[in-house]
Order: sequence, then structure tokens, then C-alpha cells
Amino acid sequence: MKRVSSLFIVVAVIVLLTSGCSEKNSEDYPIQPVPFTSVKLTDNFWAPRIKKNAEVTIPIAFGYCESTGRVNNFEIAGGLDTGTFRTIYPFDDSDVFKIIEGASYSLQTFPDPKLEAYLDTLIWKIGLAQEDDGYLYTNRTIAEMHGGKGLHEWAHKERWVLDSILSHELYNIGHLYEAAVAHYQATGKRSLLDIAIKSADLVDRDFGYDRSEVYPGHQVIEMGLVKLYRATGEKKYLDLAKFFLDIRGPKGDQYNQAHSRVVDQTEAVGHSVRATYMYSGMADIAAIEKDEAYLNAITKIWEDIVYSKIYLTGGIGATGGNEGFAGPFVLPNMTAYCETCASIGNIFTNHRLFLWHGDGKYIDILEKTLYNSMLSGVSLSADRFFYPNPLESNGQHERQAWFGCACCPSNVARFVPAIPGYIYAVTDKELFVNLFISNMADITVGDTKVSVVQNANFPWDGNVEMIISPSNHIKFALMIRIPGWARNEAIPGDLYRFTDPDNEPFVLSVNGEKVITVVSNGYAVIERTWKPGDKVGIELPMPVRKISADERIKDDAGKIAVQRGPLIFCAEWPDNNTGNVLNLVVDKDTEFATRFIPDMLGGTQVVTLTGSQTKRNVGGKIETLENEQVTLIPYAIWNNRGPGQMMVWLPVLPESSRPLPAPTIAFRSRVRASKQSGTLPAVNDQSEPDSSNDRSVSYYHWWPNRNQWEYVQYDFEKPVLISKTKVYWFDDGPEGGCRIPDEWEILYLTGNTWKPVMVKTGLSSGATESKTYPVTKNGWDSVSFTPVMASAIKIKVKLNKDFSAGIYEWVVE
Ligand SMILES: [Zn+2]
Repeated sequence: MKRVSSLFIVVAVIVLLTSGCSEKNSEDYPIQPVPFTSVKLTDNFWAPRIKKNAEVTIPIAFGYCESTGRVNNFEIAGGLDTGTFRTIYPFDDSDVFKIIEGASYSLQTFPDPKLEAYLDTLIWKIGLAQEDDGYLYTNRTIAEMHGGKGLHEWAHKERWVLDSILSHELYNIGHLYEAAVAHYQATGKRSLLDIAIKSADLVDRDFGYDRSEVYPGHQVIEMGLVKLYRATGEKKYLDLAKFFLDIRGPKGDQYNQAHSRVVDQTEAVGHSVRATYMYSGMADIAAIEKDEAYLNAITKIWEDIVYSKIYLTGGIGATGGNEGFAGPFVLPNMTAYCETCASIGNIFTNHRLFLWHGDGKYIDILEKTLYNSMLSGVSLSADRFFYPNPLESNGQHERQAWFGCACCPSNVARFVPAIPGYIYAVTDKELFVNLFISNMADITVGDTKVSVVQNANFPWDGNVEMIISPSNHIKFALMIRIPGWARNEAIPGDLYRFTDPDNEPFVLSVNGEKVITVVSNGYAVIERTWKPGDKVGIELPMPVRKISADERIKDDAGKIAVQRGPLIFCAEWPDNNTGNVLNLVVDKDTEFATRFIPDMLGGTQVVTLTGSQTKRNVGGKIETLENEQVTLIPYAIWNNRGPGQMMVWLPVLPESSRPLPAPTIAFRSRVRASKQSGTLPAVNDQSEPDSSNDRSVSYYHWWPNRNQWEYVQYDFEKPVLISKTKVYWFDDGPEGGCRIPDEWEILYLTGNTWKPVMVKTGLSSGATESKTYPVTKNGWDSVSFTPVMASAIKIKVKLNKDFSAGIYEWVVE
């Protein structure tokens, strides 16, 4: 518990520590990134987004940290205010740290004295909230002010004890370390760095093989400690990072990758954000300590992800129940989780693997993720965010201004300003060009300063011009990444394939003369003595390509996807006929047309092709309507015009499509429910699941409600005669929170009165009239009743005392 008076101690520590910050260690990745501070973007795609991140995302993110009480938690813990813990989660401190990290990066591109002063005040508050011995975790500090009352149920009364489960003490400070190094590098101020050092020194005292061996439940401190080591040269931080990795497993949970020792892991399992943060930390240790065992493990895990567990958009983590990986080839589209944080984590990991191996396949994954599943995480207005990034929607998905668990917006805030740092990398003899984004950069190759200008109109156009101007004539290899999409490779491995080869080659030239090179490890190498003003031309063919998926991905069977350059395209409701796109089927031999529309969605390429709508008739047969033009937009910018239908994987067979439902009684009804939700249209969309946990079919649910009655109601256009009903329950046990309900019953509305129907058949065996309707998992529950004229019908559902419930489909006849 820190009082204002102990500010004196903080100041004293700062004074003591202001010397002794060493420069970077020479033992590190064999390839070094060119930092974003050396690269000034001049393009029309990323530069405006980075500016908006500075002008919109970071201010509103700090605004939410203030209004939700996240900042107040530090004020209370620091004695500046009184009260109890203001927010929901013990990891809410981490959002403040992440946004400070983002703001620090942003300051280097957009100097802003007001923002810098705000950070100074915020850091002062964080310093006050830090306990005298370095401990920083506002929930506990505040609880201790109230005799322990208000300590979060995820935290133990002793420090650290429950960290491997859920307390997130080490998670919070891992983000603190990352923020501290960013702030120090941006401003030269040690204020936050000294708080981080004080914290890390405590962790170093408390943890070790002869002390506490609790491993972090949510990884990130490993990366944070490596950054702290790089910034201070203190080897103990590096050792601590390695310790936290080496004590994981073998007897913990898959959920947080503690099921086996990290060096023995070969498959991506569990929570995908924790996983990618861990893999990134392992890569850092591997690079600095030249640890082959770490490297081998993450290289195998990378193959497991890329060969069987990644979406075409680069998203990872298929299921919401564990916020993480499902089994190989389990990649449902509508319920795809693909958390924005996991995309960012996967970019971290792939960048590090590139810095180790110098192989372009890692940048292929990085670029795919960057332009698709990461970018979809934030709206064009930069003030709305996706947590999951699905590949298909029935209108139930919409970006939100903020979340109770706000990891994704704060991650966006810190990631976007650092994007220019992914463009170039160097060794003493090589300059890697990884991304094609117009920029001006000052790069040091060997000992020579090289100014580099890149002119491109990416991702809309594959022609790039580079001007290389070394300060002296210098020989080095220009390593130009030739993306997989320009080499007939939809993804490293075989999970996705271009259906037809494109024979147009990429073309390279130096000072107007064509250069013939081979591509090795994804790079075309131009090795020569460079002189000021040398011009390099890069022409990457960018035709529209069709993609098919490995047939083991059930949800993509009988479908194609469309890609142009790095962008995956999708059909979205505003651009297509009646607002329906889920019922489209496209001609598999379709020709594509493409054009740039400057005043659409901030300026975008659209792709058009031929397709048609399908609909189901009352007899259940699928009808295909006449051909029409289908318009596609880049996946990353969908959902900027309101919620509605969207689809990445386009059926080429009518039976793979979702036909427009037949005009049944249920479909023509107005649907209402006890809990309003965007998922409500699922109950009468005539999509039948294979089982009660079929993630490829949408469902309506009452989660997190439990132990109470709920309902769904159909209001008919006019009174109709009904005599039969059937329902298919959603149940995501044992992992999820929904089970088949305890009981259900049917009521109908006649006049102004709700009455129970008189059931004839379908009751559970031995049941008496009403109340004991059948409750079945993995199949329909059907009931016939004495015909009634009804103006509405209601299905009343009693939820289990411990679980919620949901409905895939509810049919009335
Ligand atoms: Zn997140």
C-alpha cells in the first residue's frame, strides 16, 4: 500500500538508477529489424490508419480507462483517492500499461506534449500504486486497505500463489515492462522504467528454483523481461524469463500450455493469446541464448498451426470456449473466434521466427494476418473493435466501442503504431524488404548509412519502386521478399491452394534493366555494389485468385475463397441484391473483374463475379435463381456499414449454400426472446446442425443466464392453425457454458391469453400431460398437440441451475 509520502522513496530509487543503462546486447537475433522510428510511412493505406490510431484510438482508449475506473484503481491504491476496486477483472491494470506502450510508440511519430504530460501524470499515479517493495497489483493493494475485503476471487490471500491459475499478477507486470521500455525509448524518461525495474527486482527475489516456482498463468512477462534485459543489460531479467518458461509443465493444463515442458511441446493447444505470447518469449530466449531446444519446439508448433489450424485470413484460435485452438482442420467460419489479440500475438511470433531463420514464409503469415484478421479488429473510424473476427456472419456480429475485458482494443492501440517496424530488417551484408508500403527509411547496413525510398500503391497494386542511396558505394544483398501469393502459393504448406496456377512471373529490375534471380527461402536476392540513387523495380503480379481449402476443413467444402495480393475478399450485405449473401452460390468457373472505388469505404478495390441466389421451397428442395453479379470487398473492412450478412468462403455447389429459408410459419414470424441478441435469427433460419455442438451452424443462446425460465416467441402475421413443433438444442459441454435445458413447454396465444397446448405425442415415456416434454441432445425434440388457432407461440425453457442453454432451430407446423 503506497502513500503519497513514499513518493520520496521512488524519487530516490530513480536517482540511484539513472546510470548504468547499457546499449543493446550483441547476442540476439541474427537478423535485426529496422525500428519503426527509422521508417516514415508515406502511403495511403497504413499512414492514415496509424494517424487515426493516434488521434482516435489512443485517446478513446485512455478515456475508457478513466471512465471505467481502471485509472482510478491506481489512484486508490496510491492513496490519491478512497474506495474499493473499481473494475471487474484483476488484469484491468494491463490495459493501462498497453495503452501507455501504444502512446509511447505513437509519440515518436506524432510528438504531442499534451499526451506526454498525460503519461507523466499517469505514470506518477502508477508509481504511487506500487507498494514499497515493488509489488504492483491494484486489486490486492486496494483490498488490503479494506482488511482483505474485495480481493478478487481469482487471487489468493498470499501474493503470486494463484498466478498459474487466474490471478494475472505476472501478466499485468509483463505488460508494464513492455510499456516501460517503450516509454523510456520514446521519451528518454526513466519514470516508468524505474517502476518496472523495482517490480522485476521483486519478482527476481520472490521467484526461483529455491523459492516460488509458480509459472505465469497468462504468459507475456517472458517477452517483457527480455525487453527489460535489452534495455538495462541486466542478465538476471533474461534468466528470470527463461525460468518462467522452464518451470511450465509437465503436469499443468493445455489451456495455458503447461501440459508439458515447453521444449517438448509440438502442437498449438489451448488459449491462443497465451500461446503466441509464450512462443514469442521462447523465440527471444532462443535467439539470445542460442537455445536450439526452444527453437525446435516453436518451429514444430508453427508447422502445426500453419498446416492445420490457421484460417485463410491469418486468424488463429477457432473456438470461443477456450478462446483458443481446436483440433487440426477444425475451422468453423461463423463461430470462428480468431481473437484480435491472437492475430497480434501470431504476428509477434512470426516476426521473431523470421529474424531467426530469414525465411520469407514467416512474413507470408505475418502479412496475411496483418492485412486480414488483425486489420478487421478495428473499424475504419478507429473507434470500434472486434474481439472475435469470424469469417461468416448472419448479422450477429458488430464491432464494439469497448469491452469489459478490453485486451483487444488496447492491443490494437499498441500494435498499429509499430507497423512500420515490420517492413525492413538487416544483417551486416543484407537488407531485407519484407513489406511493400511507401516509405522513406534511414537504415544502417554494416557500417554504412543507406537511405531507402519505397514508392508503392499497395495493397491495391503490385508495382513497387525503390530508390537505394547509400552514403558510400557499398556491396550488400538486397533481399526482396516475393510473397507466396506471387509464387502460386496461397499459404506455406497445403492447407489452402490456388485453384488455378497463374503463370505471370514477377519482374525485378535495377536502373531499368531486368534482373534475373532465383527465389530462395522466399527472397529474390540482388547482390551488387549500390551507389546513391540506384532504382529497383519490383512488379508483383496481382490477379484475382480462387482458393480452395484442404478437404478436411468441413466448413469450407464445396466452396472457394477469393484473394488478390495479400487481401482476402468477402461478400457483404450492402453490396449484394437484397442484403442476403449467405444464400449465394457462385459459378466455379467465374471470371473476375476488379476496380478501385475511391469513395467507397475510404477507397477500396472491389471484385465482381457471377453467382446466383439459392432458396429453399416449402417442399425442402433447393432452387437456384438466375445469374446475378456478386460484389466482394476486402475482408478487413467488412462491418463498417452496420451488421448484416457476410461470407468469405463462397459455395460453388447449391448444396453447400445456405438457401434462403422457405416461407414457413416460423420463417414468416416476428421472432422475440426473453434475452435480445443478434443471434436470434438463427432459430428460424432452417440450418440444421449435425450435433448439439456443431460450430458451423449458428444458434441462439441465453448465456450467461442460468437457473431460470426463458423463452422464444413467434408472432404470426395472422392467426394460423398449428399442431406440431420441434426444437434442436445447443449444448457446448463439457467445456462451454450451455447444456440442454431441464425442461420446456409450448404456450400459444389466443385472444389475449397464453395457454398451454394439449400434447398428443412426443412426451417422454412415462410422462403425464405437459411439463415433461422430451429433452434430447444431438437430435430433434418433436411434439404433436391438439390443433389450435394461435396468433403467437412461445417456447418456455427452464435453464439448468448451473448452465445456460441455446437453440439451433425451432420449427412450427
Ligand atoms: Zn483480446
